[in-house]
Amino acid sequence: MTGIRPLPQVEQLIPYQPGKPIEELQRELGLTRVSKLASNENPLGASPQVISALEKASQEIARYPDGSAYALKRRLAAFHSVEPEMIVVGNGSNEVLELVVRAFAGPGDEVIYDQHAFAVYPLSTRAAGATGVVVPSSEGFAHDLDAMAAAVTNRTRLIFLANPNNPTGTYFGRSEFERFMQAVPERVLVVLDEAYFEFVSHSDKLDGSQLLDRYANLVVTRTFSKVYGLASLRIGYLLARPEIADYLNRVREPFNTSHFAQLAAMAALDDQAFVQRSVAYNREALAELKATADRFALETLPAYGNFLTVHFGPEANAVNNALLKQGVIVRPLAGYGMAQWLRISTGTPEEQAHLAEALETILHV
Ligand SMILES: *Cc1c(COP(=O)(O)O)cnc(C)c1O
Repeated sequence: MTGIRPLPQVEQLIPYQPGKPIEELQRELGLTRVSKLASNENPLGASPQVISALEKASQEIARYPDGSAYALKRRLAAFHSVEPEMIVVGNGSNEVLELVVRAFAGPGDEVIYDQHAFAVYPLSTRAAGATGVVVPSSEGFAHDLDAMAAAVTNRTRLIFLANPNNPTGTYFGRSEFERFMQAVPERVLVVLDEAYFEFVSHSDKLDGSQLLDRYANLVVTRTFSKVYGLASLRIGYLLARPEIADYLNRVREPFNTSHFAQLAAMAALDDQAFVQRSVAYNREALAELKATADRFALETLPAYGNFLTVHFGPEANAVNNALLKQGVIVRPLAGYGMAQWLRISTGTPEEQAHLAEALETILHV
């Protein structure tokens, strides 16, 4: 022990628990067949155009990247029909979420999020020494937007919303969101995390990127980790009014995203056919996961992203351990206050068959 102590808010943090890496399970159990359905990655991989862009760029390692991500921001601006000054690029959308907290909330400030919200919101809030205000979900684990608006006090600086939410997969539509925005004072920033936006099919689909004109206090985050399949490269971004983006750029590291991540993101954006294929595949894969859950009479939450949240009851932890022994990695949700549930990402046909076989053995149905 060194006797050196961190800030009190850091001492109390519980680190983010990622999905178990494939190599780790192989090492631990000596397994060869491992199916990872734990991190909402794209089972189709990434666009072939991304791979060839990266191969061409392999001679450029020694140079610093363009810290301002000039070219990528221009492409994203055209894609969303906004100004480049409204974009902040980050090392995963995780980083831009963290930048928002760092720039806007500190000790004495309140940050509102849902009881079962994405783990990064409480982590970043607490790390900044701000106070997290946890709003209970409504029935069915959905965000209770009325209760969240009602939780605003004169200390509130930020509200985090994930749509769809992870790990619950729940969704709210545009009219419900607009009602919420009208109830929230303009001095409170609303961060709308649309990490799974592309997967959503809904009669009242919400596209936050199209509402920035209307709401000065809206911040929208997107990622290349999910449908675009670039999770390992770490790249995501945020859309907001230029003044807000400017503040965030002041706390951003100068070279926060790599040259390769920026090139890959541009190539990925250019291949919207790959996105369409991925979304279509995901729809089928989700239907198959749901059929598997139904076969074992397991309750599921409505799924709008690329994962299914499944109720296994008091045995959930035992089922998770048994799945690991058979080489299937899913996501336990005890850390989210959902100890009876497991989150299962869509996978390749082989991976999903592996899951179904393993469940058959474990549940003896
Ligand atoms: C996966 C995910 C993210 C993004 O992760 P990055 O890889 O850091 O871009 C953001 N929000 C939610 C809700 C997610 O599930």
